[in-house]
Amino acid sequence: MDKTCVITGASRGIGRQIALVLGEQGMNVVINYRGSREQAEETAAEVENRGGRAMLIQGDVADFQESEQLVKACVDKFGRIDILINNAGITRDSLIMRMKEEDWDKVISTNLKGAFNCSRAAVRFMMKQKEGRIINIASVVGLMGNPGQANYAAAKAGIIGFTKALAKETASRGILVNAVAPGYIQTEMTDALPDETKEKILKHIPLGRLGQPSDVAEVVRFLSLEANYITGQVLVVDGGLAM
Ligand code: NAP
Repeated sequence: MDKTCVITGASRGIGRQIALVLGEQGMNVVINYRGSREQAEETAAEVENRGGRAMLIQGDVADFQESEQLVKACVDKFGRIDILINNAGITRDSLIMRMKEEDWDKVISTNLKGAFNCSRAAVRFMMKQKEGRIINIASVVGLMGNPGQANYAAAKAGIIGFTKALAKETASRGILVNAVAPGYIQTEMTDALPDETKEKILKHIPLGRLGQPSDVAEVVRFLSLEANYITGQVLVVDGGLAM
């Protein structure tokens, strides 16, 4: 398949799985990472094993210019950008009284401004192409809130508003913009939670298990390659948690 996607934060976790699933379709996959070079190389090798073409780009999505360079490097190499997946994200959890200004700023600038930075760069090319897809990885925490995650919840709720505004702004140019809101997915991000917290969460998930990165990646594949008449939506992938 002669399509090209850029996935931010694809060195591990959900981003890596999205890279593998899109790579399997034979796509050109641009794998962005910030610090985990070795893991990003492993993702790239696996994308190629599965029949895709991989390119690695180090860069911090919180940085406007590095985000522009990421998208430009993709277009320089593959001639276009069909799909952008804004997946890179971090947590810096603590209760509001203990949350440092830096914890707030870091989470907002990576999780929310990062999506703006990369989308701003991508939309310029997608408008010229008169087609494109942007998928933003939000979270059920942006819909429900969560104690200890005021910064993260604000960023993820912001991503949802951003998705809808951008969808309305770009629909006439053939650009579809959607968000995916995962619940609790087993990755390094959630491995850090104490077992007791995981047990508590599990009790509230009707499907009775934590999600896997593949549960999210399959939905991203659908929105990236199949769904032709969906834009401005938030698809919740959480085993029923946020019902
Ligand atoms: P993860 O395993 O911690 O992986 C995070 C990825 O983001 C890594 O590849 C990391 O790359 C990259 N990253 C972090 N900061 C970056 C930056 N400034 N610039 C570029 N890349 C950066 O996390 P995950 O669980 O897969 O989460 C992926 C996304 O899903 C995040 O947006 C997260 O908020 C969202 N999400 C996750 C869950 C869950 O339960 N896991 C639930 C809801 C939503 P480096 O290692 O190279 O820094």
